[in-house]
Amino acid sequence: MEIRFEPTGAPKTKPDWNNLSFGRIYTDHMFILDYTEGRGWRDARIVPYAPLALDPAAMVLHYGMEVFEGMKAYYSQDGRVLLFRPQENAKRLNSSSERVCLPYLPEETFITAVCELTRVDQAWIPRQPGASLYIRPYIIADEAHLGVRPPFSCKFIIICSPVGAYYPEGLNPVRIYVEDEFVRSVIGGTGHTKCGGNYAASLIAQKKAEELGFTQVLWLDGIEHKYIEEVGTMNVLFCLGDEIVTPSLDGSILPGITRDSAIALLRSWGHKVSERKISVAELFQAGKDGNLREAFGTGTAAVVSPIGAFSVFGELLPVADGGIGPVARKLFDALTGIQWGRLPDEAGWTYEVKI
Ligand SMILES: *Cc1c(COP(=O)(O)O)cnc(C)c1O
Repeated sequence: MEIRFEPTGAPKTKPDWNNLSFGRIYTDHMFILDYTEGRGWRDARIVPYAPLALDPAAMVLHYGMEVFEGMKAYYSQDGRVLLFRPQENAKRLNSSSERVCLPYLPEETFITAVCELTRVDQAWIPRQPGASLYIRPYIIADEAHLGVRPPFSCKFIIICSPVGAYYPEGLNPVRIYVEDEFVRSVIGGTGHTKCGGNYAASLIAQKKAEELGFTQVLWLDGIEHKYIEEVGTMNVLFCLGDEIVTPSLDGSILPGITRDSAIALLRSWGHKVSERKISVAELFQAGKDGNLREAFGTGTAAVVSPIGAFSVFGELLPVADGGIGPVARKLFDALTGIQWGRLPDEAGWTYEVKI
């Protein structure tokens, strides 16, 4: 792929590296690739970061025709720039696109574009411990048309944002509200995709949880409101006695890359990991029996997020002593160690960006 490069004439001042929040600052450039039905993807370019010109009738503005990915570039101590399993992001973007009828994007195109933009804006990759460059690739339907049908034109765009350590003071357990009214998805819906609409639909529950004094929502299945699906925008794992349990990917759950990596590591350490249905009733019983040893979320942003307590239908269920368990701690150290190139990468998960 030939990428046209138009460097910015006005580089921005770099942020205060020690006070980065999430998703507020953007780098100097962005990547854009256009798609037209019949002609395919063309005109790859890296141009100065700037607002997009969109027709007010662009389909994305009316019907939420958008899919996205979330990944990071890590600056290693020996000066390499690393991505973590970017092929998985490329594949997942296509599986999201397929579900909402956006066009297929070749995986090599995705990876080349991510690498090129990261290389061009490499001075924006934070060097601080735990900080990284968050990368947001996405596709929008930019065709001006008010009919509801798959679009004839789209854009694949990548923007980047330097982000600080998710837990500047170290891992911090969160309190979770078990949501019994609103649901995130149902089997047959779009729960397994990162499509914009899913997140719009989740806000009301998130807002409610915050008003009640909780950090995030635990989503239950959309039919019986019985089985556990995810926490907020993270997958969830439980240590129940000697078994580690995570809900199986049955179509309504987002297949997290951190989840997949966590399962592989846990199994390589000899843990029994079961991907199966787990009900709130089972969780509650395990808590009462003293078997609920740990609970934690996994996702690119936080990596591992320990859960200290759940509010279950009006009752508070503490997780063990409410602190950070040994499994969550070990996983966090192992995953971040591999991501930042500090630990050996036996599974070949890191991908070096040639700079
Ligand atoms: C992105 C996301 C995750 C985590 O996926 P990772 O690939 O691990 O970052 C989990 N659940 C939802 C709903 C998400 O959007």
